[in-house]
Amino acid sequence: MKILVTGGLGFIGSHTVVELQNKGFEVVIVDNCSNSSESVLDGITKISGKKPLFEKLDLREKEKVSSFFKKYQDIAGVIHFAASKAVGESVEKPLLYYENNIGTLVYILQELSKKQKASFIFSSSCTVYGQADKMPITEDAPVKVAESPYGNTKQMGEEIIADTCKVTPELSAIALRYFNPMGSHPSAEIGELPIGVPQNLVPFITQTGIGMRKELSVFGDDYPTPDGTCIRDYIYVVDLAKAHVVALERLLAGKNKENYEVFNVGTGKGSSVLEAIHSFEKVSGKKLNYKIVDRRPGDITSAYADTTKANTVLGWKSEYTLDDAMKSAWVWEQKIRD
Ligand code: NAD
Repeated sequence: MKILVTGGLGFIGSHTVVELQNKGFEVVIVDNCSNSSESVLDGITKISGKKPLFEKLDLREKEKVSSFFKKYQDIAGVIHFAASKAVGESVEKPLLYYENNIGTLVYILQELSKKQKASFIFSSSCTVYGQADKMPITEDAPVKVAESPYGNTKQMGEEIIADTCKVTPELSAIALRYFNPMGSHPSAEIGELPIGVPQNLVPFITQTGIGMRKELSVFGDDYPTPDGTCIRDYIYVVDLAKAHVVALERLLAGKNKENYEVFNVGTGKGSSVLEAIHSFEKVSGKKLNYKIVDRRPGDITSAYADTTKANTVLGWKSEYTLDDAMKSAWVWEQKIRD
């Protein structure tokens, strides 16, 4: 079956393309390379032994999206990763985020609504929960007011899909709410390639470890957590990629109970910033240069998933530990800086 993966050259998309190809799906990647490079295709091909089809296009161009679906009429499902994802930048350039994250979603859904049957997987985020009142976080925890335009695009994206599914029985969709993706493929052929200053903790740790950055700032050690630093649920990107494949298979096989469903994708285990640093020190054998600084505005204290729904309904469970994932991130960092 032919599957469109938008943003398939990006961090999570490229790992998902590998897992889809390993399962025998034929993949067409659409990417405008705004946050990735065409060379990622080589890494994917080396791992899976198969080069995916690739169309370089900007999904903000409605006519081109339409032409794409005319050319590939046999697309059975879409996994939509393409989006802008820097929280800080979204505060400075909200319209860029609304156009890229909402406009592209609408154009794709418009095309899928014309089909007799279509399956759609959406990249959502645990940011929709804000600081949840209870840990671990279940899917029915309330969605809180978004802290940034980026977070808002994920909330609005979910609402747009839910509204569309209500009036389009031919369309089935799943929103996966990722917790904190990290790591790289065990082959070190693909991985996270942050442009500029990393937004996420793990690439910041590995870049500091390799000497690209002088030191890592830990924002606050006076949170109400066991060691005082913030807690997150770090999910290995290969585990996350596999969650997309099982979610897609559920829709293609018509096993979904409703035509719009939501699942948390995390490990179910919270790890503090200091635990992540210690994990790096353990797997790399290097001491990390870090210092504790003031809290950063907007950071929540704690977020980790209740994964019961994904475990039981999707039959998916994360397999890798924080140390495994950290090791892969470190191997990748050394390879790309070599
Ligand atoms: P990424 O930036 O590595 O990948 C996104 C890809 O989409 C890039 O290759 C980029 O070039 C492409 N793209 C962006 N706009 C496009 C457009 N208009 N047309 C065509 N291609 C376009 O990001 P990622 O970390 O792989 O994230 C994938 C998805 O998961 C995003 O929707 C992101 O918001 C979501 N998400 C990511 C995280 C995370 O921590 N990485 C957490 C929660 C949710």
